[in-house]
Amino acid sequence: MKQDDINSFIERNLKNFSVNSTGWNDLIRQMLFELAVGGWNMKNDVFGKEKFGELRCSLYSENEELNVTLKIITDKYLKLSQKTCEICGGEGKIRTISSWQTTLCLSHFLDQKPMIEIDNDLNISHNKKTVLNIQDIIKAEVEFDLQTLELYTKASLDSDESFSFSSQNPNYYLLLKTIPDHLFSDDVRENISDLFRNLKDCEICGYKALHENSCLRCYNEEWEDSKGHGEKSDYIKDCQMDIFIDEDDFEKYFKNDRSFEKVIDHQILFTYNDLNEYEKLLF
Ligand SMILES: [Zn+2]
Ligand SMILES: [Zn+2]
Repeated sequence: MKQDDINSFIERNLKNFSVNSTGWNDLIRQMLFELAVGGWNMKNDVFGKEKFGELRCSLYSENEELNVTLKIITDKYLKLSQKTCEICGGEGKIRTISSWQTTLCLSHFLDQKPMIEIDNDLNISHNKKTVLNIQDIIKAEVEFDLQTLELYTKASLDSDESFSFSSQNPNYYLLLKTIPDHLFSDDVRENISDLFRNLKDCEICGYKALHENSCLRCYNEEWEDSKGHGEKSDYIKDCQMDIFIDEDDFEKYFKNDRSFEKVIDHQILFTYNDLNEYEKLLF
């Protein structure tokens, strides 16, 4: 089999793949190479696409034996694509970003996640872009559950638009705390000050972020016997190990969150042995 023929087969078919970026190009090239040496008739085009963060390619041949080979090859690359960043080709994993599944490395994942920052001059930035200054806000609204914040400047109010922020983003509660009280309506102002005044220490993550019985920082529920959480110390241990292992990179995303104070004397309940055992169960 001529290398040149394989190469032109690969280059011709690379553009038949509907993918989000160029990170999978090497994978697709390798797959096409394997298909060529595996017996695929190179006169026929190969098509594929990204779906749910995976490289999908379905091929069919009337030759049953060849069909098995094709399936083995496409399955192999589907599995490899689940671990390869679609943007850069680096080591990645399947992530959910605003309900879409996509395979990204840590840094491209963090790039896609909204980030709120407030600087010393009270500029608010969203996704690294300065969007407004706190001093220019003339009205603030928040939904009843305090999970979404809408801010208005004179110009935005005139055009009936607002700047919207969600509690799922780091520094949301810092922002909520920093917005001057008088910009909110009376009932909302009460709700917000109640929330911050009544925060309790979270024994799991070690932030003063426990609101009613769930934590606004680590999203874990407070231990409760009636909820079937089991032994208290085991429950806290398991939750703490989940935070440490950080399988979904949530902690890395929230690394620069300044919304909540750290609890003094926070206790880590798990030991090295606990972690070892726990990881064996998980992986
Ligand atoms: Zn990447
Ligand atoms: Zn917590």
